[in-house]
Amino acid sequence: MSKLKIAIQKSGRLSEKSLNLLEECGIKISNGDRKLKAEAKNFPVEILFLRDDDIPQYVEQGVADVGILGQNEVWEKDKKVTEVEKLGFAGCKLSLAIPKDENYSGINYFENKKIATSYPKILQQFFDEKSINVTIEEIGGSVEIATGIGLADAIFDIVSTGSTLLMNGLKEVEVVTKSEAALISNQSLNTEKQTILDKLLFRIKAVKNASENKYILLNAPNSAIGNICNTLPGMKSPTILPLSEEGWSSLHSVVKEDEFWDVIDKLKDYGAQGILVVPIEKMVV
Ligand code: ATP
Ligand code: MG
Repeated sequence: MSKLKIAIQKSGRLSEKSLNLLEECGIKISNGDRKLKAEAKNFPVEILFLRDDDIPQYVEQGVADVGILGQNEVWEKDKKVTEVEKLGFAGCKLSLAIPKDENYSGINYFENKKIATSYPKILQQFFDEKSINVTIEEIGGSVEIATGIGLADAIFDIVSTGSTLLMNGLKEVEVVTKSEAALISNQSLNTEKQTILDKLLFRIKAVKNASENKYILLNAPNSAIGNICNTLPGMKSPTILPLSEEGWSSLHSVVKEDEFWDVIDKLKDYGAQGILVVPIEKMVV
């Protein structure tokens, strides 16, 4: 039986999270990240540890069947691969930054400016769409020092907290795009490999759903149940169990992480008490 070859970053920001994701999908990898290849014990996959820059090319050629890497690298390399699923980690912005004392008047500021970046393709496309002429200076790393040493007027780079920009006397003036880790796939997988990928994807979605949701338990007077059920739709509808105290019930449901605090405020207003919120390990919808 054939195996699905999954390329992940050998060492860097994505390595641990990629391995964690596979582990949460129940895929146990038998050796550490020192080797180029590792087999999974209980799932028909083989892991290839590579530089993230090389993953799009390997996936296009079928050396790897799928890969996990930042969308920024996928877009920049522009290979014939399919983005199968966004993975919700390694989020960052790709932004334009200029020296902090410069006056920024809007995107036309960049007309005829020289911009240093490791992402020339993404940047060129951005300015082509806006019909603004710029000179792009491609450099491999340490982009943030390019203005300080007189290489360029501005930079285009990955920004997460902005502290690197600040330290180098720069300010972010345009967010060009946002990126996160994604699963990409070769465009002509055979049916056997496609079946394995579908299985993997099913598990990835269960892990992602779980991390985006919380399980919530609370007690409420029966008169408040109607309002609470409208606030907490749950996966189908909330579970309602009578408490031994007359006129009270316990409600169990699922709530989205990002709606969580708004929901809690409403529940308290409706008279909910003893609210417990617990993490979900897997969630199949
Ligand atoms: P490799 O040696 O594999 O080429 P790299 O140096 O290109 O590694 P990393 O710095 O490990 O790459 O970053 C990998 C990815 O993590 C980036 O391409 C991006 O998608 C994402 N990322 C998220 N936040 C940041 C950040 N603050 N700085 C850099 N990358 C980030
Ligand atoms: Mg790289």
